[in-house]
Amino acid sequence: MANILDGIKLSKQIKQEIKEEVSKFVEKGNRAPHLSAILVGENGASVTYVDNKIKDCQAVGFRSSLVRLPETISEEELLNEISKLNIDDSLDGFIVQLPLPKHIDQEKIIMAINPDKDVDGFHPENFGKMALEMDGFLPATPYGIMVMLERYNISTEGKDVVVIGRSRIVGKPMSILMSRKGNPGDSTVTLTHSKTKDLVEYTKKADIVITALGVPHFLKAEMIKDGAVIVDVGITRVDDSTKERGFYLAGDVDFSEVAAKASWITPVPGGVGPMTRAMLLKNTMQSYTNNIQ
Ligand code: NAD
Repeated sequence: MANILDGIKLSKQIKQEIKEEVSKFVEKGNRAPHLSAILVGENGASVTYVDNKIKDCQAVGFRSSLVRLPETISEEELLNEISKLNIDDSLDGFIVQLPLPKHIDQEKIIMAINPDKDVDGFHPENFGKMALEMDGFLPATPYGIMVMLERYNISTEGKDVVVIGRSRIVGKPMSILMSRKGNPGDSTVTLTHSKTKDLVEYTKKADIVITALGVPHFLKAEMIKDGAVIVDVGITRVDDSTKERGFYLAGDVDFSEVAAKASWITPVPGGVGPMTRAMLLKNTMQSYTNNIQ
């Protein structure tokens, strides 16, 4: 039976470390770090995500602020709000909660964010820095996986890694980070996606498989080799009338059968998700230390 890569436990530890670091700065007379979020509209999941981000800020002693804007806001008005935050010296970072309403060009919005305050790491400048192994903000989910591999001492050097899914926020950056020099990193990476032929040919040989496709229970035991490390990014709501909420959260991995064959595995929920949340705080802390020194 595989060992568990416990994102809840590890993210608590990381938040505690950040909290202690913040206290030290504040005791010396510095202001607290400050993260802001722009939330457009009333999308239920987005409201919950932003609420959680604010709670996380409070838990570590950050100041947080929320800019709530109506669904009907024009692209120009939203760009105006972003320009204000871009030059606000009291802010270390801000995020624009995605998705945005259809009439707003998401790419234009991301491009408008000051890269020095882009703690989501979505701006092309930060993506480019990541690819070139320069300092910048890393996107939270891949960053969280890197920290998890590092803290659990999972060996990655020279390993064969297969990433399934090539999204901008998870799969693609994940493949870049694992192939970068350093630890974790120094892996030989194959980035697979919906057009990949014979996916199993790749996953069966992989030392580490990272799934980010959003297809519940996709990865089966017969698709991996004995002792592989499995990182499951997927979170999909699956209808289930036996549950109080009417659904359960499923990962991309068929956990019970894959866990019996793997050496390490992330559960869903409780694996990558909490690490993602903690990394937004880590990026904000990084921006803060750049700003006050
Ligand atoms: P996405 O939904 O934008 O894209 C899915 C990717 O999977 C595409 O690149 C596609 O080519 C690939 N894919 C789809 N079906 C495939 C198949 N049968 N075989 C191989 N590849 C296939 O991706 P995303 O935004 O990275 O989200 C992926 C999943 O991760 C979703 O369940 C999402 O909810 C979850 N997610 C979790 C976190 C977290 O913090 N845990 C963060 C982001 C996303």
